[in-house]
Amino acid sequence: MSILVLNAGSSTLKYAVFDQSTCGELASGIAILDGLSESTQLRLQYGEVQQTDTVAGIAGYSEAMAWILGRLKPLVDDDPIHAVGHRVVHGGTEFSQATLVDARVCESIHRLSMLAPLHNPLALSLIETVQTMIPSAKHVAVFDTSFFTQLPKRAWLYPLPYEWYEQYGIRRFGFHGISHAYCAERAADLLNRKDDALLRLVICHLGNGCSATAVRGALPVSTTMGFTPLEGLMMGTRSGSVDPGIPMHLIQHLGLTATQVEETLNRQSGLLGVSGVSSDFREVELAAASGDGRATLAIEMFADRIRSTIGAMTVTLGGIDGLVFTAGIGEHSATLRSRVCSGLDCIGLQIHEGKNEANQCNRDIAEENSTGSIFIVRTMEETAIAREVKRLLTQQRTTGSS
Ligand code: ADP
Repeated sequence: MSILVLNAGSSTLKYAVFDQSTCGELASGIAILDGLSESTQLRLQYGEVQQTDTVAGIAGYSEAMAWILGRLKPLVDDDPIHAVGHRVVHGGTEFSQATLVDARVCESIHRLSMLAPLHNPLALSLIETVQTMIPSAKHVAVFDTSFFTQLPKRAWLYPLPYEWYEQYGIRRFGFHGISHAYCAERAADLLNRKDDALLRLVICHLGNGCSATAVRGALPVSTTMGFTPLEGLMMGTRSGSVDPGIPMHLIQHLGLTATQVEETLNRQSGLLGVSGVSSDFREVELAAASGDGRATLAIEMFADRIRSTIGAMTVTLGGIDGLVFTAGIGEHSATLRSRVCSGLDCIGLQIHEGKNEANQCNRDIAEENSTGSIFIVRTMEETAIAREVKRLLTQQRTTGSS
């Protein structure tokens, strides 16, 4: 029996197949649905075999899904897909763990679309499509927000009129929870402190979207993303936290519409907005290396904000035992990690430049005399989703529910 995991982004569909008993990965791939191009790139990897097809005429996710299932068929003939794990960005406060999809769950995902308009409608339509394609499988929704349902109230409530929370549901939700929970568990493992409720970690998830989370034991204590995934650290195209007076000023006095401001904060800001070069960190790094002043400034601002967040979270935790860098930038950019860590000796953290440049995952890259460890962890959201699916199905078998 196997588990298929689907992780739909705004222009990509990542997928992976796992052995249900071991949660070992059997195959994985990505469909790159670039709206600007007429053809779609679809990649599949199993064992040593890598296959890349560029296919024309794939209009959307359901066509890509049909291609993926067709390619997976020979692989899963002996090992049928028993369950499908769907990553869903917004589960509000309703879903504190993975949940078997039924009409009520679909209705909730739909209702929460207002809070995650780029992600939830996509996830829902994919769930519905795949339910019809693999009707015999159990479909499980795994939410990015679930981990943060355990945040303490003082961390999720905003300093706004309390009625706004009660009447309008304005509160912090937090995102990237699947990745943060996975990395926290991995770091606890690496430190040999798996069941230690006092372990203090700061996880920095630095991809196109960026967020940091303070974790004590296995529980989140604070996180940077908020009511929406726009708050917190500077990102590829998202501004992160800015003075809320700025949007008001632009709308009330300069004639921009709310939609224009929202679009700009989400898609034209961050690394792209400051550098004017790209939202892709590699391209901004290249431009900075060739002397582009704005690209250099964007990287400095990006690193400064991460560093001060680590400092604030360390104070919240009362110290730090482990700092984790993960996702595209966190896992691959030694210069960014070095820049972030320069100045963290005031909280006892010292990076070993040689180990940092070696870029090895799951290895402590701190100096011997650093009071806390520093790790690069390869985030494995699909594996974490497969484990959640397995846990839920085992729980259901044990309790006898369907
Ligand atoms: P997403 O949030 O879409 O999953 P990723 O985790 O794949 O994004 O991260 C994408 C970011 O990682 C991009 O800004 C990209 O430039 C950056 N990145 C990927 N590889 C490298 C690298 N070798 N060096 C620096 N940055 C990298």
